[in-house]
Order: sequence, then C-alpha cells, then structure tokens
Amino acid sequence: MLNALIKHEKLETVSHFAASVSHELRNPIQSIKGFVQLLNNHEYDRDRQTEFHNTILQEINAAEKLIEDYLIFAKPAYGRIETIHTKSEIEKIMNILGPYAAEREIKIVLTAPEDGLRIAVDPQKFQQAVINIIRNGIDAMPAGGLFSIVIQREKSAVLIKLTDSGSGMTKEEIQRLGEPYFSTKTTGTGLGMMVTYSVISQMHGEIDVISEKGQGTTFTLTFAAAE
Ligand code: ADP
Ligand code: MG
Repeated sequence: MLNALIKHEKLETVSHFAASVSHELRNPIQSIKGFVQLLNNHEYDRDRQTEFHNTILQEINAAEKLIEDYLIFAKPAYGRIETIHTKSEIEKIMNILGPYAAEREIKIVLTAPEDGLRIAVDPQKFQQAVINIIRNGIDAMPAGGLFSIVIQREKSAVLIKLTDSGSGMTKEEIQRLGEPYFSTKTTGTGLGMMVTYSVISQMHGEIDVISEKGQGTTFTLTFAAAE
C-alpha cells in the first residue's frame, strides 16, 4: 500500500517530464553537431578522427535509447482502448525483441493458454510497457539464458509474469524503480520503468515485482479479464 502510494507520487512528477525529454535530446544532438563541425573544419590525423567518430556514435546511441524508452509515452494520450488477445500481443512483442534477445544469447519462452485471454488496453502503450520490462530483463542477463513469460487467468484477472534469471535487485533498487533517471547502467536512460509504471497505471493495470539479488526478477502485470 505504502509502495503504491509512493509510486503514485512518482507518477505525479511524470507530466512535467514530457517537455524535459525533448530538452534532453538536445544534449546529444548539440554534441554531434559540434563534432561534425570540428571534423569538417580541421585536418585531423586518423586516430583523432576515429575518436571523434566513436564519440558521435555514442551520442547517437544515447539519443536512440532515449527515444526508444520514451516513444509511446511522449505521444498524446489517445485513450484508444481495444480488446486484445494477450497471447498474440505478447507474440508480436517477442518478434520485435527477437534480434535483441538472440544477439545476447537469450531465449524467450512463452507459456499461455490457447484461447489467448483477452484484456482491454491501448495496444501501443501495452507494447511499450512490456518491451521496457523485457529489455531490462535481457540487460540483466549478460551471460545469456532463458527469459520466461507466463500468461494465466486468476479469477477475473489476467496475469502476465515476466521472469529473468539475471542480476536481480536490492530492496533499495526495487523501491527506486520507476523514479525518473534512476539507472544502474553506464548508458541507461532511467526512463524505461517510469514509462512502464505510468502507462500500466493509465490502463488500470497493476505491477508487482519480486526480485532477489543474484537470482533474478519477476514482474507480474495484472489486468481485469475482458469478456
Ligand atoms: P535503464 O534500463 O535505462 O537503466 P529503466 O528505467 O528501464 O532504465 O530501469 C531502471 C533500473 O532498474 C535499471 O538501471 C536497473 O538497475 C533496474 N532494473 C530494472 N529491471 C531490472 C531487472 N529485470 N533486473 C535487474 N535490474 C533491473
Ligand atoms: Mg530500461
């Protein structure tokens, strides 16, 4: 309950955020511009050029990550709620993340009943929320392994359990999930989970986290089953 309250307070700050992210994109873009101008105006030796090129690439990657984590969220809330088959929607997400997972030697396995279990969500926001969770799970398993997704019905609810066997989190890290800019990664945005909590709450879903340092993490998303 307390945790839910804290999360809610965190979400309040989110609206101030849409504006500042576009602001944030200016940093990498300014930096890229600067280096491209330098390369254009001076004769540098090969090593120096390579160094500049690498910096430019890093800045492009930073901008790309910011956009990826934030893309759906930054769009105006259309409130386009549709009834989806959870199973086929998750299969689409698995296709999108296929290359990202394969590159890191990670296999995503889905267990779901054939009828798919329907929920009412904004499909794009649902996709973004789940993608951000799975990408974090993949990031937490640098040595590869299995990422498991289980969809099940529990009374009038549909549960989506997303489990990695990665680095896990401490209690403090779990508390800070969803806080803008909280990231333990060298090139993280710290915006992915904020977006996830925000859009899941907009769609009246719930998120629970169980995590053990060194063991792994399970995120459970709960939605009312749509009839
Ligand atoms: P980013 O991925 O850019 O760091 P996120 O908001 O997506 O930002 O995640 C915030 C932080 O939460 C991560 O840096 C990581 O410390 C922690 N985290 C989220 N999911 C997991 C997970 N599955 N396993 C371990 N740590 C996680
Ligand atoms: Mg992330």
